[in-house]
Amino acid sequence: MNNAPNNTPEKLRFDIIAVCVLLAAVVFLLDISVPLGIAVGVLYLLIIIVSLQAGNPQVTRYIAVGCSLLLFADIFVKSPELVPLWVVLLNRVMILGVIWITAILGIRLEKAQRQLKKQESELQKVNQELEQAARHDSLTGVANRRLFDKDLETECERASRGETPLSLLMIDVDHFKLYNDIKGHQAGDVCLVRVAKAIADKLRRPGDLVARYGGEEFAVILPVTTPDGAVELAEEIRQAVESLGIQHPDPQVNGPVTISIGAASLWPGAQRLEPTAVISAADTALYRAKHDGRNCVRVAETPVYLSN
Ligand code: GH3
Ligand code: MG
Ligand code: MG
Repeated sequence: MNNAPNNTPEKLRFDIIAVCVLLAAVVFLLDISVPLGIAVGVLYLLIIIVSLQAGNPQVTRYIAVGCSLLLFADIFVKSPELVPLWVVLLNRVMILGVIWITAILGIRLEKAQRQLKKQESELQKVNQELEQAARHDSLTGVANRRLFDKDLETECERASRGETPLSLLMIDVDHFKLYNDIKGHQAGDVCLVRVAKAIADKLRRPGDLVARYGGEEFAVILPVTTPDGAVELAEEIRQAVESLGIQHPDPQVNGPVTISIGAASLWPGAQRLEPTAVISAADTALYRAKHDGRNCVRVAETPVYLSN
């Protein structure tokens, strides 16, 4: 059984209309039973203010029309007042003016607030998009070099503090210049997007980050990952790209597009861990992978213990 209260805006609007109608009836009955004088104006004004809470100009307009009619109706219903009719009428016209000025100003204010809220949420969306664009590569959607540099710096500090290992993979697409030269730059772009996605799909932990390091090179930051873990993941990534089956157009390559990977790890030591050290160690390992025939993973011989 669902006992949850129905708090939709429609329900709220309906409740406010009901309250306003009830209040208007009470004020009307009160006014024809006891002479309320100028106080009737204040009461009708309160009803208009309540109606504004519905946040719907139409509701306020209808309530204002209803109150205006009741305001004049009671002159004809109740017994004649001691003051002349023209004084009563003048009094009612003044009240009517106040009611409508309040209603119109209230509606405008409500509209302005709504517009402001809409603009605020649009601005927030644009800000988010700008932030995303400033930190991500526009072609592949993965992190850009700027975010990579920042993240690596942060992770190195975290690794130093927590005394945990940190691994880095440098990835380079094999024979990509030939691919571009034969198939064209646009086909090259499509290939890079697919490679980036294949790499990203293999990352499982929330702290892992893949970035486009430049051109056809990608880098993967793996916090709290040992050299063994990094090599295992690098091999999975290598296989995933190969199995995309993107045919390389050069007959000498004769096979699918592949990647070479260099892996390096920072091992916690007494000193602060430097990002540049792990980058150059992974780069050296990548160079070896290229030298050893490409489409393979090579790992930096020893984990880097760090220097200042
Ligand atoms: P290797 O196997 O030794 O890495 O050879 P390679 O041809 O991949 O290496 P090289 O550095 O000579 O060529 C990289 C090429 O990547 C050059 C350029 O045509 C291509 N490239 C770099 N950035 C982009 C890009 O944004 N889009 C496209 N389509 N191609 C790019
Ligand atoms: Mg390259
Ligand atoms: Mg290359």
